[in-house]
Amino acid sequence: MGAIVLKGATLYDPSHEGGAQRRDLWIDRGKIVRPGSVKKVDRTFDLTGDIVMPGGVEMHCHIVGPKVNLGRRFFPEFDPDDRMGPIHGTRATGRLFAGIGTTTAVDAAIPPLLARHAHLEMTDTPLIDKACYLLFDNNHFVLDALRENRLSELDAYLGWTLSAARGYGIKLVNPGGIENWKQISRKTLHELEEPVPGFGVSPHTIVRGLAAAADRLKLRHSVHIHCNNLGVPGNVQTTLSTMKALDGARGHFAHIQFHSYGGSPDDPTSFCSAVPQLIEYVREHPNISVDVGHIHPGRALSMTGDAPFSQVLHQLTGGRWYAADAEQESSCGVLPIEYRPQKSLVHAVQWAIGLEWYLLMPDPWRLAMTSDHPNGGAFTRYPEMIELLMSRDARQEAMSRMPADLKSRTHLAEIDREYTLEEIAIITRGAPARLLGLDSKGHLGVGADADIAVYRPSSDHVRMFGEPRYVFKAGQLVAENGVIRAEPLGQTFTMNTGFDDGVVPRIKDWFEKSYSIQFSHYSLREEDFPPAVPLAGR
Ligand SMILES: [Zn+2]
Repeated sequence: MGAIVLKGATLYDPSHEGGAQRRDLWIDRGKIVRPGSVKKVDRTFDLTGDIVMPGGVEMHCHIVGPKVNLGRRFFPEFDPDDRMGPIHGTRATGRLFAGIGTTTAVDAAIPPLLARHAHLEMTDTPLIDKACYLLFDNNHFVLDALRENRLSELDAYLGWTLSAARGYGIKLVNPGGIENWKQISRKTLHELEEPVPGFGVSPHTIVRGLAAAADRLKLRHSVHIHCNNLGVPGNVQTTLSTMKALDGARGHFAHIQFHSYGGSPDDPTSFCSAVPQLIEYVREHPNISVDVGHIHPGRALSMTGDAPFSQVLHQLTGGRWYAADAEQESSCGVLPIEYRPQKSLVHAVQWAIGLEWYLLMPDPWRLAMTSDHPNGGAFTRYPEMIELLMSRDARQEAMSRMPADLKSRTHLAEIDREYTLEEIAIITRGAPARLLGLDSKGHLGVGADADIAVYRPSSDHVRMFGEPRYVFKAGQLVAENGVIRAEPLGQTFTMNTGFDDGVVPRIKDWFEKSYSIQFSHYSLREEDFPPAVPLAGR
């Protein structure tokens, strides 16, 4: 692959000062290089009139691992190649991401025990760079260590597991609530100071303990938190108190839309938006970031490490439901859902709450676009969300087809803000790359990975963002007007914190008493996988 030059386009590169500007991009050996620094140029693309952005970065989706495979097996009616469908095969996932100009994606919830298969799938997913967060918050070793305040052992265990299971970050899902539910009670914890039976630690202790550990380990991404009480009316109080439990440590709040509900759990008719209350807190606390988890009208597939929530959803919808446990670590639940905001006031309010987050958050650098794919709908539908953010008229038109009560339960009707292309580039590229600590992603500066999306400007943003003119992955042309031209594999990022070897015998002892598989089979072996790219903490 020789050097190439992209000539004449307007660059939206929000990480660099000065706003959009017309300049040429020089690319050599997969990286953006200084203009003129390469003697021989193989190909020049005339992009006069086009818009260039860094490749999109998806920081919270479910594309590999046990939940996704349960979804594939349990709902064969979903065509794995259907662009608008909620679940895809591995190859289709890579092609569809590249098809909208997204070139990096992080799977949000992998149990370390089941990471092997997730990594095999990542290896089979072309065209994007990948990583995954590992589930730690209902892990028995972690709960014991937190209760006994064995912090250096906790840090060593986290570092060892990130290495053994090739993880990028620490994920929390309904902290403590899963373990509580897995025990005989099948009841969810609602009180955040209530200890998990048998472990004596509360959700707050888990959040505070793991957030502090992520900071001590200097992970590039903070803890990634799916709060307790997802989807419950009135859960704004849970979300606020979880933010406070961080005690100043960094914390990323995933799919915040599902955690921004006012009203009362005893009276579902009181369901309403509590976004302004949360934004007021978030704007004063720079240690906090969010991704939105908006919903799209139409088919979705709920798949979550929060099996208790899955059970609630199953009881509400009556749909087919599948749940599974991962031994000492986690659980998951999968069921299909169809969002019908034109008919259902609850769905309309959820739809509006997602939009409110985008439109009311003053600092786009601490917010990333996600639909918690496939929970809120497929990532392939992001262009529809971009259109709504960029056009107040499009929002008003959509709202006019939804229940009239929507206006009294949300603030969306009064919001005039329209996103600029610069802001779209921030929430889909710059911000998620920065929040993940991926220095070579999300910008177009010298040294960045040459992951690039080229768009033809149009007032039809669904079309513009749904079909880039060109997409480059590591400097290679991979998509052109919706046609895939090449399928390079992409890389997998992991977090390498180092750890105190002294803890391994202790983990082994515990492991052999607790797990159904042998300790020696748990760690992924280098020879089974293409080399990962281990990033150091900082
Ligand atoms: Zn998720």
